[in-house]
Amino acid sequence: MMFAPGSHLGILGGGQLARMTALAARRLGYRVSIYDPAGDDAPAAPVCDQVFGAAYDDPAGLERFACSVDVASYEFENIPVAALQTVGRGCPVYPGWAVLEICQHREREKLFLHRHGFPHAAFRVVTDAAGLAAAVAELGTPCVLKTAESGYDGKGQLKIEPGADLSQAWREWSGGEPRRGVVEAWVEFVAELSVICARNGQGQLLPFPVFENVHTHHILDVTLCPARLPPEVQMRARELACAVTEALDVRGLLAVEMFLTRGGEVVVNELAPRPHNSGHLTFDASLTSQFEQHVRAVCDLPLGAPDLLCPVVMVNLLGDLWPEGAAPDWRAVLDEPWAKLHLYGKEEAKPGRKMGHFCVLAPALDTAFEKARTIKARLQSGRSF
Ligand code: AMP
Repeated sequence: MMFAPGSHLGILGGGQLARMTALAARRLGYRVSIYDPAGDDAPAAPVCDQVFGAAYDDPAGLERFACSVDVASYEFENIPVAALQTVGRGCPVYPGWAVLEICQHREREKLFLHRHGFPHAAFRVVTDAAGLAAAVAELGTPCVLKTAESGYDGKGQLKIEPGADLSQAWREWSGGEPRRGVVEAWVEFVAELSVICARNGQGQLLPFPVFENVHTHHILDVTLCPARLPPEVQMRARELACAVTEALDVRGLLAVEMFLTRGGEVVVNELAPRPHNSGHLTFDASLTSQFEQHVRAVCDLPLGAPDLLCPVVMVNLLGDLWPEGAAPDWRAVLDEPWAKLHLYGKEEAKPGRKMGHFCVLAPALDTAFEKARTIKARLQSGRSF
């Protein structure tokens, strides 16, 4: 069923992804409500028609939200599946709760990939120090212990080096609490990439171009498009992402993060059924942004063309750039006429917190990359210009 422009879209979660989705939805003529425990303090609140400030385990709040919108989606994975099911009794929710249930849990996600024959790093599920020792013996070192639930941006991850004291590693990682983890073999990758696919209710399926990602301290730092990777690798990545999207039966967006291994294999790392940080550059550089495409897919409109209009480099702005809480001098970005600044309206800057991003467009990717590096260095230097 199509929800035409003018309908009311609800988004669970009110962070920057909801904010940018709401901006795209409103441009198309939708009304937008968000549901976020932070209420009016949520980054998306100032750009929405209505804010529901209640907890994700408050059935009455969720029911009120569901009854006030025509269709709903969500902007991050750490929403309880039960909350989605409650909302789903009042209005349709896309992608459905079964997709979230898989993507929010690393063990289920890995088992899903395995069952469908999609390439992924070898892994073992562990629940105690003995299990960790057995997994490390099988997978070798280095390897990485990741939390099964609630992990993002490298949180809850521990790299295990050769000769590590595994009992101590388990104690540190688990904090002495019962915990479930996934141990992954270390992937010797030459590049990290992502493909964001959109799929609407008619089954129309369109991938965005491949994004090349550079992570620093496990957090996305820079995304480049077009990716500097051979065409056959890019084609393989897009085919793989489309196949995963179909297999999961996603209506909405699916971001598929992948590694390109030294041996030339494309391996799936993580799935996110929502707009993704690596797709932010589509706002400035694509015919249809990932946010508009998300709205189109969820509301079952025909999808827009995902083509890239211009080479682009996106740089994340983390709270580390706000020394003692003071914002950097934005003239470093604004002085460059082919740069675009995006700030998420967050009050408090903390190290590692995503506060905004900027994009630099240029006729050639190298030029965009060089300019982006210069701008970042100026922002870091803290000089005013
Ligand atoms: P994740 O939270 O799983 O996306 O991991 C965050 C980052 O850690 C990735 O983008 C990689 O840079 C690195 N990483 C995660 N898993 C592995 C792995 N199995 N092998 C090598 N690097 C990894």
